[in-house]
Amino acid sequence: MPIATVNPATGETLKTYDALTPEEIDRRLDLARTAFAAHRTRPFGERAALLNRAADLLDEDQRDIARLMTTEMGKPIAAARAEAAKCAKVMRWYAARAEELLADEHPAAGDVEDSGAVHATVRYRPLGVVLAVMPWNFPLWQVIRFAAPALMAGNVGLLKHASNVPQTALYLEDLFHRAGYPRGCFQTLLVGSDAVEPVLRDPRVAAATLTGSEGAGRSVASVAGDEVKKTVLELGGSDAYVVMPSADLDAAVGTAVTARVQNNGQSCIAAKRFIVHTDVHDAFCERFTAAMQDLTVGDPMDEATDVGPLASERGRADLEELVDDAVGQGATARCGGRRPAHLDRGWYYEPTVLTGITDGMRIHHEEAFGPVAAVYRVADAEQAVAVANDSPFGLSSNAWTRDADEVELFSRDLEAGGVFFNGMTASHPALPFGGVKRSGYGRELSGHGIREFCNVTTLWHG
Ligand code: NAP
Repeated sequence: MPIATVNPATGETLKTYDALTPEEIDRRLDLARTAFAAHRTRPFGERAALLNRAADLLDEDQRDIARLMTTEMGKPIAAARAEAAKCAKVMRWYAARAEELLADEHPAAGDVEDSGAVHATVRYRPLGVVLAVMPWNFPLWQVIRFAAPALMAGNVGLLKHASNVPQTALYLEDLFHRAGYPRGCFQTLLVGSDAVEPVLRDPRVAAATLTGSEGAGRSVASVAGDEVKKTVLELGGSDAYVVMPSADLDAAVGTAVTARVQNNGQSCIAAKRFIVHTDVHDAFCERFTAAMQDLTVGDPMDEATDVGPLASERGRADLEELVDDAVGQGATARCGGRRPAHLDRGWYYEPTVLTGITDGMRIHHEEAFGPVAAVYRVADAEQAVAVANDSPFGLSSNAWTRDADEVELFSRDLEAGGVFFNGMTASHPALPFGGVKRSGYGRELSGHGIREFCNVTTLWHG
């Protein structure tokens, strides 16, 4: 993929970049190693001051960086501003809490005395230079979600961002530099995906985190496995959204629309498969379809737009293939299923509701990365769980019910890294985030996230 800003609303190439040469990469790896040697011993108070300063700068830059993100990947402008605000929030959250989250632990003397210890301590020490391979869909958030805890833990970061968001990638390096971080604490490598393997194999790199597709995750994990380096993988999702008869149907429908079309439908934790109890299925479908049809599709810079273009021509083609495959095998497009007639350029696709999904259709097993909802009818909660779990993915899930037994069943049996009841999945600094199955492993955010790239060190005193 060329490293370039191409406006998805117009298809116009605005700026292209050459990839760094191997010599430039080598120089940056040296810089990262040197920066780590100092940053690892920097007191928490100083680390927090740097991160808070970066958060303040991000707040000041909010309007400009939001416009840049929208230009590069097409998200509605209001959502882009909200993304920048959320990044500042997670920076401040980790700045305030990292010291406590990484405080030494002291196993009770009685628990360790038979090891011969007078006392023992568990200390969270940083791992080193962490390579972050990141996607374009939340081009600030995915990076900050990694960088804030990593920097607070004393690690340093190397960002290989998606090739279609190079200006956002460069902005991030500049942001940390302006905040006062020494060069080398956070660097952007403008490189293609072919450069990931040699960087990851380099002994100066300790670990990697990847947010992206299953294929990219598999590739990075196999190289890291070969090098015996720690990885966190945040991959795709096809989250279930279960609606039971006891649900508040109006709320379930309204949230279903947001949960499906947020970020133009290109969110890993978007609800993608709507699994609806037969007693409320027809009412849900009718209202959901009407609400999806009502959305305003258009220029993402326009404050009134609900759904902008897909980020790339390839992404739209992939989505069209999934819908065409389903319809070709008997699914019904209740709305959408085509490009909007009123937009003659850009990579737009109409919000789409599909019913009559069967397990032979690709959309049943694959991730629909765009504003396309697959709706299923089920007879009871057990069948809802069976349909929800019949997916290679297990990122998050949603369940709408007021029945305590159903809450317990879904809490126990839905195969996912989260179950959100009577609401939609959203990430939050204090809540662990991550998946199971082909959605990846490891956790981001909360105390779990900051400890992923730590050397959990036993200090034993005889
Ligand atoms: P992608 O194509 O996998 O790209 C993600 C990153 O991986 C990019 O920087 C890409 O670089 C790089 N990459 C691609 N193939 C690679 C390879 N073989 N080796 C090393 N690096 C490689 O994904 P995307 O299209 O940007 O993002 C969409 C996917 O991300 C969806 O599946 C979505 O669900 C998932 N996602 C998951 C989460 C989560 O938290 N679980 C969050 C957001 C998105 P290039 O751009 O240069 O190809």
